[in-house]
Amino acid sequence: MAPTAAEQHTRKAVGLAARDASGHLSPLAITRRGTGDDDVVIKILYCGICHSDLHSIKNEWKNGRYPMVPGHEIAGEVAEVGKNVTKFKTGDRVGVGCMVNSCQSCESCNKGFENHCPGIIPTYNLVDLDGTITYGGYSSMVVVHERFVVRFPDTIPLDKGAPLLCAGITVYSPMKYHGLNVPGMHLGVLGLGGLGHVAVKFGKAFGMKVTVISSSPGKKQEALERLGADAFIVSKSADEMKAAMSSMDGIINTVSANIPMAPLLRLLKPNGKMILVGLPEKPMEISPFALVAANKTLAGSCIGGMRDTQEMLDLAAKHDVTADIEVIGAEYVNTAMERLAKADVRYRFVIDIGNTLDKAAPAAVAAE
Ligand code: NAP
Ligand code: ZN
Ligand code: ZN
Repeated sequence: MAPTAAEQHTRKAVGLAARDASGHLSPLAITRRGTGDDDVVIKILYCGICHSDLHSIKNEWKNGRYPMVPGHEIAGEVAEVGKNVTKFKTGDRVGVGCMVNSCQSCESCNKGFENHCPGIIPTYNLVDLDGTITYGGYSSMVVVHERFVVRFPDTIPLDKGAPLLCAGITVYSPMKYHGLNVPGMHLGVLGLGGLGHVAVKFGKAFGMKVTVISSSPGKKQEALERLGADAFIVSKSADEMKAAMSSMDGIINTVSANIPMAPLLRLLKPNGKMILVGLPEKPMEISPFALVAANKTLAGSCIGGMRDTQEMLDLAAKHDVTADIEVIGAEYVNTAMERLAKADVRYRFVIDIGNTLDKAAPAAVAAE
C-alpha cells in the first residue's frame, strides 16, 4: 500500500502562518515530505514579501485555506538531493518561486510554460499531489521537485535576489512576450512597489525610456536618481498626465488596488499595450472606447515559466538587476504587512529566515 501523506511528511519544520482572514501571522509547527527521487531539499535563508501574500492571508481573493504559510520568493541553500537529481548538489544557492509542481506533460509544460499548466501546484495555499496543502517560504525549509528550482548566479546576493523569483519574472515575462524590451521604446511602469521597481530596472537594462506613473509624489527623487527612471508622473496630477498623453508604447500595470483606467490608457500611443500584472480584489471597469479608439491592447500576464525564470535570473546578473530591499526579522512580519498595505516599503521586504525564524518561533510552536 502506498504511504499516506502523513507517513511521507517525515520532516519537521517551522513556518509563519495566518490562521484566518485577519491575516495575523504567528509561528506554526509544520511538516515537509521526505526526499523523493527528484526532490531538492532547501534550507530557506530569505523570503521576499509579495503583495500577493498580503492579498492571500487576508483572503481578498476568496480562496484562502488556513492555516496558511505564505511566501513564494524563496532563496536558500540545497541541503540534500534525491537520487535522480542532476542539476543541483548540496550547498548550491537556489531559489523557488510561485510554483512547486505541475503535470509536467501537457502542452504548456512541454513548451516551458508550467505557469499555465492546468495542474499547476502553487507554492502555498493549494492542494499538493499527496493531498496536503502547500506551505510557502515563510518557513525554515522546503522540499521541491528539481524542475521548479532555479540557480542563483554567483553575483546575485540571496537577499536582494529573492524578490526576483516572483517580482522579477512577473515583469520580465510580459516585457519579453509583448515586445516591450526594445531599446528606444517608451515604457510606462504604473505603481512603484516591489514589481514596479524591478520593471524600471529591467526597462533600463533593455535600453528603454522608462517613465514611472505613481500615486506617491514622495517616490520621485529616488525613482529618478536611484532607480534610473527617465521621468516620473504623479497620477493624480491632471497636468502631468495630460503632458504625457499618447507617449508610451507600453505600460506594465502593477497596481494592487482598483483605480480608474481611462486616464492611464490615454498615456498609450496608438497600438500601445497595457499589460496587467496587478491583481486588485474587485473587477475593473473599462469603456470600450478607451481601447477601440486608437487600437489599444489590454492584456494580462501571470508570473512565468521555469525556463524564463532561469533566463531572467541570468540576465539580471548580467545587467546587475536586483531588488532594493528592507531586510526584516521574522518577528517584524506583521508590521511589515501593515506597512506594505500602505505602500510604505522601499521596495521589497525580505525576511531573514535563516537568522531569525528559529528565535521568533520556539515558544509559540511549543504552545500549539
Ligand atoms: P506593492 O509592492 O504593494 O506595489 C504596488 C504599488 O501599487 C504600490 O507601491 C503603489 O505604488 C501602487 N498602489 C497601491 N495602492 C494604490 C492605490 N490605492 N492607488 C494607486 N496606486 C496604488 O505590490 P507588489 O508586490 O509589487 O504587487 C503588485 C500587484 O501585483 C499585487 O496586486 C500582486 O498581487 C500582483 N502580482 C501579480 C503577479 C502576476 O503573476 N500577475 C505576480 C506577483 C504579484 P505607488 O506608490 O507608486 O503608486
Ligand atoms: Zn508574488
Ligand atoms: Zn502541465
